[in-house]
Amino acid sequence: MNRLYHESEDWVRHGACRRYDPELFFPVSSVGPGGSDAELAKAICRSCPVRQECLTWALRAGEADGVWGGTTPEERRYLRRELAPAV
Ligand code: SF4
Repeated sequence: MNRLYHESEDWVRHGACRRYDPELFFPVSSVGPGGSDAELAKAICRSCPVRQECLTWALRAGEADGVWGGTTPEERRYLRRELAPAV
């Protein structure tokens, strides 16, 4: 998993990313040169058995960096706006 402080979450132990370099999941950018790392990380997430748990956690935690649950930070910002209750 990407960061140690998430080890308390049970689903973390089943993440497909545990077998890869964590830096792959924290590209400098999701476009340009970092875009290929982000796309590779997202491809790994697509086969991950705990993708939904991971994405839910990242949205709730407001995780601002890295690929989580198959989403980039920009995609999570979009999802948070879409899921926010209308006021
Ligand atoms: S969804 Fe992606 S970042 Fe989350 S645990 Fe799975 S492989 Fe890791």
